Amino acid sequence: MIARLIAHVDLDAFYASVEIRDDPRLAGRPVVVGGNSPRSVVAAASYEARRYGVHSAMPMVRARKLCPELVVIPPRIGHYAAVSERFFAILGEYSPLVEGLSLDEAFLDLAGTERLLGPPEAAITRLRQQVKDELSLACSAGIAGVKFVAKIASDLAKPDGQLFVPAERVLAVLHPLPVGRLWGVGKKREQDLLSHGLRTIGDIARTDPPTLSRWLGAEAARHLHELANGIDERGVVPDREAKSMGAEETFEHDLSDLEVIGLYLLEQAERVAARLRRAGLVTSGVTLKYKLADFTLVTRQTTIAPTSDGRALHAAAVALLQRHRPPRPIRLVGLSAHKLGPPPPVDLLGAPSAARTDRLNAALDAIRQKHGHAALKRAGLLALDRAHDATDRPAGYETPDKPRRPTS
Ligand SMILES: [Mg+2]
Repeated sequence: MIARLIAHVDLDAFYASVEIRDDPRLAGRPVVVGGNSPRSVVAAASYEARRYGVHSAMPMVRARKLCPELVVIPPRIGHYAAVSERFFAILGEYSPLVEGLSLDEAFLDLAGTERLLGPPEAAITRLRQQVKDELSLACSAGIAGVKFVAKIASDLAKPDGQLFVPAERVLAVLHPLPVGRLWGVGKKREQDLLSHGLRTIGDIARTDPPTLSRWLGAEAARHLHELANGIDERGVVPDREAKSMGAEETFEHDLSDLEVIGLYLLEQAERVAARLRRAGLVTSGVTLKYKLADFTLVTRQTTIAPTSDGRALHAAAVALLQRHRPPRPIRLVGLSAHKLGPPPPVDLLGAPSAARTDRLNAALDAIRQKHGHAALKRAGLLALDRAHDATDRPAGYETPDKPRRPTS
């Protein structure tokens, strides 16, 4: 068996960092990205805001209470998706095997890259510096032989740091951590573990499997006991080999507002679309799923014209949501793409295929990012320009009273 070496690279406070980068007046201020309506939630919080106890998924009302001088910036998901594509382009220079988890984080398989890139720790230091040089964004990284340990390590290294966990250090790093840090342990499972007196990952590792099995059920017990002992056979699964691609979120509080749920779907759509584009694929099937507060799972599918455009996926998911409105508040929403395949050839009449539209979108974003929005005003491009300016902000996200960024 070839020894695994996996890096998890994660941009720090991604949305908030992009907004602060793009508007220097925000530097040093407690900034969150999210809506301003009474039911909005925080999508991302800067480290300054976190000092007040503000964190993502927190209701905006509560965040404002904790930090009255909070600066709330409406999200620009399409813009973040464009920044994300440049981030992933850099990641691709360091490994041929990249598995994107979301717009701002990915696993890289580093096994066998040493001959080309030098020692992995130094390579990751260079990667992080390159992200800083080219994107003006900080990221953190974890490196380990075990996949989920790499993810935990990047979290421990935040902000703007990196942590290598060699095999002989894995248990020493894992065991003092709270059980909630284990990958896949959500709020409910965490409560379950706590109720049995299991507070740290080490507590799980030290509990004998039959007891654990009685408490948690055989499947979960086996899985968690392995993880707690640093055993995780999962490798990096590059996006191009995926059969479907999805994203989902469990909310801190159950949601019923379709507009707020729609924002989650927009972000998920952009995440999935970015993964499709990186893998050179398009999708013609979109699945919406949601879980009611009582854990009833509802899934609905639809077929669309082949695309890798986030707005097309979002539109399909929102249409499904409106057609199949949740009868009660929901605790989770997710979107996934199935029926994946290569992009269809450009049609002979010259209408751009969905893939071409996407490439054009990415190119436009790159130019705008470099030279500002005024750089692009060719009539034929105005529609795309507007799409990025307007539909990125779902209805209900009012613009702040002050100009967002210098108008030069
Ligand atoms: Mg991040």
